[in-house]
Amino acid sequence: MNRPLLLRGCTLPDGRTGCDVLALDGRIAAIDPALHAPDGAEVIDAGGWLLSPPFVDAHFHMDAVLSHGLPRVNRSGTLLEGIALWGELKPDLTAEAIAERALAYCDWAAARGLLAIRSHVDVCDDRLLAVQALLDVKRRVAPWLQLQLVAFPQDGLLRSPNARANLERALDLGVDVVGGIPHFERTMAEGTESVRLLCELAAARGLPVDLHCDESDDPMSRHIETLAFQAQRLGLQGRATGSHVTSMHSMDNYYVSKLIPLIAESGVSIVANPLINITLQGRHDTYPRRRGMTRVPELMAAGVTVGFGHDCVMDPWYALGSADMLEVASMGLHVAQMTSQDGMRACFDAVTQHNARILGLDGYGLAPGCRADFVLLQARSPAEAIRLRAARLLVVHGGRVIARSAPAECELLLSGRPSRVDFTRQHAG
Ligand SMILES: [Zn+2]
Repeated sequence: MNRPLLLRGCTLPDGRTGCDVLALDGRIAAIDPALHAPDGAEVIDAGGWLLSPPFVDAHFHMDAVLSHGLPRVNRSGTLLEGIALWGELKPDLTAEAIAERALAYCDWAAARGLLAIRSHVDVCDDRLLAVQALLDVKRRVAPWLQLQLVAFPQDGLLRSPNARANLERALDLGVDVVGGIPHFERTMAEGTESVRLLCELAAARGLPVDLHCDESDDPMSRHIETLAFQAQRLGLQGRATGSHVTSMHSMDNYYVSKLIPLIAESGVSIVANPLINITLQGRHDTYPRRRGMTRVPELMAAGVTVGFGHDCVMDPWYALGSADMLEVASMGLHVAQMTSQDGMRACFDAVTQHNARILGLDGYGLAPGCRADFVLLQARSPAEAIRLRAARLLVVHGGRVIARSAPAECELLLSGRPSRVDFTRQHAG
């Protein structure tokens, strides 16, 4: 059992300041000013910095992570060259190499306070190498990071010969969520059929369903409508997710005025992937060039749970990224023009609370009784954390400190006037 942990003087995301947070037996025991330190407690001065529940990533591809440059780099940076590259890489993959890269990424994640990840895993390889490797990684990282796996038929459930059987095999092996990619099937009708089959499979097995849905600039793509319909018909409210849904960016406004209430009514959650959507969508446009991200503020205003995912880090589709969900929130904020005070806060929630709801995480949050998982950020507010991609001063899992970073600071050595640079200083009035 861990020593009790007492953090003194935290600022909380809701604006409360001077809060002490006590962790006992892996749970938050109390949040109040001036708490008494139990015998033997480790007491840490939080210095007034922001304490947040950990970051959560609702959409990732861990089977491809850190494979950038294998077997060659994506010269054009486009989605299509990325898919071709992944096809070239797949035959050479080994379970050991997949696991090694995934474990390295999980270390990056823990260091960044990212303690829960939903990752899709391609099931179109008959060997299911990536499935077995990531199930092993999931077990190995479980003491500090919750990895949720989605059985993802990358080449299409109906389009790829063994995808359906492989997907069922992956679920039998213990993969947690049913995945799909209806817009990649041969026709709109087959896409619609795949959504029905996948939702029925999820309902029959009592599992969540999370589909790559309408990841295109096609304003006529309608799979999110089908997903909302099937989720409602089969009672999947609260455990069905449409990921990407970039086509909504390009849809006719009149149609969207019907679609958004339909999504809200169905209880389907939406995950946007701002870093990837802004780089991969709109590639067939000249100017004006579409941004391609789904309609985040409008969906949120209608009461839909909207999360942000990282999607890719250093893989065939995206050469950048570093497990920093604040970078994801920042890109989402900019692309969706969510610069109001409430908008910036909502972008922070999209990489914390909203993603936790989408993953169905138990005991997530900053309240007595919640799991003692949190991250101390070198910022005074959620908006400042996004602005600074704030340093993770402490990452705590189950009441135990699992990572520390030094505060970001710089001593400027300009001639005659040495000074410290403080990017958190407020210049008011
Ligand atoms: Zn994806």
